[in-house]
Amino acid sequence: MTTTDHDILQTPIEYLKGVGPKRAEVLRKEFDISTFNDLLHYYPYRHIDKSHVYHVADIIEDGSYIQLRGRITNAQVVGQQRAKRLTAQFSDETGSIDLVWFNGIKWVQDTLQSKQEFIIFGKPTVFNGRWNMTHPEMIDPNAQSDSPVPMRFQPLYNTSDFAKKKTLDSKAISKLVANLLPIVHDIIPETLPDDMLSNLKLMPLKDALCQIHYPASNQDLSRAALRLKFDELFFTQLKMLLLKQINTKRIKGHVFSQVGDYFNTFYKNYLPFELTNAQKRVIKEIRADLGSGHQMNRLLQGDVGSGKTIIALFIMLIAKDNQYQSCLMAPTEILATQHYEKISKQVAPLGLRVEFLSGSTKTAKRRQILEGLQNGDVDILIGTHALIEDNVQFKNLGLVVIDEQHRFGVEQRAKLWRKNTIPPHVLVMTATPIPRTLAMTLYGDLDISVIDELPKGRKPIITKHLYEKDRLKLFGFMKRQIEEGRQVFMVYPLIQESEKMDLLDLMAGYEAIERAFPPPKYGIGVVHGKMKAEDKDFEMQRFIKKQSQILLSTTVIEVGIDVPNATVMVIENAERFGLSQLHQLRGRVGRGGNQSYCILMSKYELSTDGKKRLNAMVSTNDGFEIANFDLQLRGPGDIQGTQQSGMLDFKIADIVKDEKLVAYTRNLAMQVLDNDPELRKPEHVRLATTVAKLMQRETNWSVIS
Ligand code: ADP
Ligand code: MG
Repeated sequence: MTTTDHDILQTPIEYLKGVGPKRAEVLRKEFDISTFNDLLHYYPYRHIDKSHVYHVADIIEDGSYIQLRGRITNAQVVGQQRAKRLTAQFSDETGSIDLVWFNGIKWVQDTLQSKQEFIIFGKPTVFNGRWNMTHPEMIDPNAQSDSPVPMRFQPLYNTSDFAKKKTLDSKAISKLVANLLPIVHDIIPETLPDDMLSNLKLMPLKDALCQIHYPASNQDLSRAALRLKFDELFFTQLKMLLLKQINTKRIKGHVFSQVGDYFNTFYKNYLPFELTNAQKRVIKEIRADLGSGHQMNRLLQGDVGSGKTIIALFIMLIAKDNQYQSCLMAPTEILATQHYEKISKQVAPLGLRVEFLSGSTKTAKRRQILEGLQNGDVDILIGTHALIEDNVQFKNLGLVVIDEQHRFGVEQRAKLWRKNTIPPHVLVMTATPIPRTLAMTLYGDLDISVIDELPKGRKPIITKHLYEKDRLKLFGFMKRQIEEGRQVFMVYPLIQESEKMDLLDLMAGYEAIERAFPPPKYGIGVVHGKMKAEDKDFEMQRFIKKQSQILLSTTVIEVGIDVPNATVMVIENAERFGLSQLHQLRGRVGRGGNQSYCILMSKYELSTDGKKRLNAMVSTNDGFEIANFDLQLRGPGDIQGTQQSGMLDFKIADIVKDEKLVAYTRNLAMQVLDNDPELRKPEHVRLATTVAKLMQRETNWSVIS
């Protein structure tokens, strides 16, 4: 590619025939299109096949746009003012359908005055038992096509109301693209080596970028789409793997060369159970990283209850064995407190100093802790995101563990790197499993360890879906469990828009529970987000010490909490929770040896998705299955924690639908880098150029890594 070619693709869109300054402004604002190149990559979401003329009798409702040929008659304006619309009848030799226009009525009336014979395009739907098409596109069958390219498939582009008002509807955009393609076709640079193109039988990029807009055939359209998806996924993987390589090769890490007394003593004398094989394997994987001299960046995946916390503790002991400090960060104060209490108890016999820091730590105490961190007296610091504030300085921070990372954004992770000249090792632990393809894409720059085994003796949690009419039955069941010495969580939904209302729900729930479970026979605790940290902690402690038997809460209880004696999790209005949240909540029980239960309470009428979610919960306990299900139901964009990352902003690839391609391109990228780790070989010039551009665009990622 020459500089001039590059310049042409970077030409401001304003200079394209048919654009001009005003439309350029709209294109930029509405669609983020400011150059020729941007428009080239503004792909249509579908095409109308104009080569096929349907008959009214053959219409089926499958959501596709079709073309019909016939007569339009009986046009009349009905309704008043806002409800005003134009209706007409369209008929061919096989039947008739209704047509409706809400806008541009005058123009349609005029058009219909002069002729009756039309080809119409649109999406038929059923309305009042009849086929109906709103705002069909109408074309005079005898008119010459005004399109500069052969138009078997008409592309349809996403547009906006505002853009349409400014005359940039789908058709206008398609015309602009038609103007653009002949100018750029020959200069679109290829991103893949010729060898790869021919071996993989991929369409050249310049053809793909043209065919995706104006395909010559269905087959060309799918080959073009495949090529473009391939590029998005392959280069994402290549970039991630390169970043990972930079991490492991270039970024020095503290060397934890020995496993010493702290680790060994704890393992031999104080570990209250036998580690699962999966836990042992993961500890080995991590130890290898820690001794390597490179910074560890590892994601630890494991289902709820698989025992991730103890891994964190072992790793922190290795840090101590090598005279390093470590910190453990949790997303909520409750969880952080719990980690603090458990871990300080666990390591008490070893004589380690463990401290807790959160937003609500009092000034005097805070000063004391900060001092201890700086002079190296504090070995382990546990807390919330308060840990990453700038004034928290360590003498010798060697390891950071981030628990339940869903709520810790990429940005916050980056902050940790700035705490030392040599960055600490980082272990990120997930709240619930992430599907493989998502993990590859979102965390492709991290190494991944998986705990795929639950501790022995766990009985699978029994999950039931009940309705309001079953409430007495539910209360009876709770009473029996409490009589056996067990405890119960009851969770009420929290919807951000109206925390107040949720609190009302919770309080109403509390009154009902108090009537059914009268004190002093029963102790009932309440925890919600609006409470002061001390009060929350007090209620939690009461529950942990079995002074209360039922704990009512909003979702503050969602993540991580560990009370093995609790065996019943009741989720009110379960239909209002997301699937991974439900699974997380369910994971609060089933942690001891007793049979545990998760009861999903819901109203009768459920949305299709709501029903699917609850059914999924009843049908499986496996977090990996749930995660896959969730991904399919919601799409990758909605999975917690992914929104802000920008990593899933694919234009055409879809990590759910193109799951196989994700894995395939990942492997391919690995092969390429195995053979040429820094992409220096002449045959990889195109790959190197393309990836370099990508990395430039996302500077934040290179900072982080
Ligand atoms: P999660 O992976 O969800 O964070 P936790 O680390 O909270 O799970 O562990 C869940 C419970 O299982 C805790 O009570 C923990 O002490 C216990 N546990 C962890 N590992 C084992 C094991 N190997 N055998 C028995 N119990 C274990
Ligand atoms: Mg946990």
